[in-house]
Amino acid sequence: MHKELENTHKELENTHKELDSIRWEGNVRRVEPYVPGEQPKKPGIIKLNTNECPYPPAPGVREKLSQMDADQFRLYPDTSAGALAEALCEYYHISQDQLFIGVGSDDVLAMAFLTFFNSEKPIYFPDITYSFYDVWAQLYRIPYETKTLTGDFKIRKEDYLEENGGIIIPNPNAPTGILEELEVLEEIIGANPGSVVIIDEAYVDFGGRSCLELIGKYDNLLVVQTFSKSRSMAGMRIGFAMGNPKLISYLNDAKFSFNSYTMNMPSIVLGAEAVKDTAYFQETVGKIIATRERVKMELKKLGFSFPDSKGNFIFASHEKVAAKEIFAALKEKGIFVRFWDRQRIDNHLRITVGTEEEMDIMLAHLKEIVEA
Ligand code: PMP
Repeated sequence: MHKELENTHKELENTHKELDSIRWEGNVRRVEPYVPGEQPKKPGIIKLNTNECPYPPAPGVREKLSQMDADQFRLYPDTSAGALAEALCEYYHISQDQLFIGVGSDDVLAMAFLTFFNSEKPIYFPDITYSFYDVWAQLYRIPYETKTLTGDFKIRKEDYLEENGGIIIPNPNAPTGILEELEVLEEIIGANPGSVVIIDEAYVDFGGRSCLELIGKYDNLLVVQTFSKSRSMAGMRIGFAMGNPKLISYLNDAKFSFNSYTMNMPSIVLGAEAVKDTAYFQETVGKIIATRERVKMELKKLGFSFPDSKGNFIFASHEKVAAKEIFAALKEKGIFVRFWDRQRIDNHLRITVGTEEEMDIMLAHLKEIVEA
């Protein structure tokens, strides 16, 4: 009898524990997180899955790094990221009050969502786009509505002219690589004076025309860029936004209410170095564009089709072989590309443009796979 009572007591205790956990779980801010591309550590692999740059950062970056004094790490970094801000302002011909810097453009975008998308009305973005947007919307409880791209993955301007709580459009779009005309984006920005329009220009340096030229004209426009692609600095985590001083000041208010020392000292110093070397930047971007255009021709010969990408990646699907199959076969050979098992895009692969040699190896394997 005593044993039975003891067991009943234990069971009750367990039930209470479960109930308690359920109770606190009711207060958890739950979110289905963004899934970043794999960062495999195996040597010898060809990594074409996260749109990194295959070339090293500007030579000045390495030099500055070798001179870096670790003693400086005792101190908190400059909250204004002064050296980096100066270099960016000089390069883009803007003033410091038009610039916001963050830990990669993911950080800048997360801060911009928090700051500007604070309405009961839904924010708008394309249904096929950077898959972090809906994650931030869910995290912050921002109502959102995705706008269906056309069959050939283009945005429909009219979709963005209805009343909304904000708009975010990447240009070029990811993962399609499609570039939208500046005039179309200007119409959307101009038609929405009541909400902030964010243009995510992570890939604009590979052949796009930036909306930066419009920030003086529209106070609701925020242009976001990154060092992760065209400037070969994904590992340093540097992103920035450019816009009207009022927008930037609101962004800073949110950022300084969250974490003031976001940019670490090496990123500030080395980022500035990367911006200063304009010739190297142009050379790197030029090489990637040339490789991209060559790979497009080769892919076509192998029976692939794709939108005309203006990014550092190609969104390709094959006429006969399923993307999932090609993805697995390439991985087997140590070549990582990106595949999403998601409606409308589950027969496409996003292939980052690597070096000429990397592309040759990939193309040779693709030939084998599709002709097998
Ligand atoms: N925007 C788009 C469209 C992207 O593809 C990426 C890269 N994943 C980012 C923003 C974020 O890049 P980062 O945080 O490295 O600047």
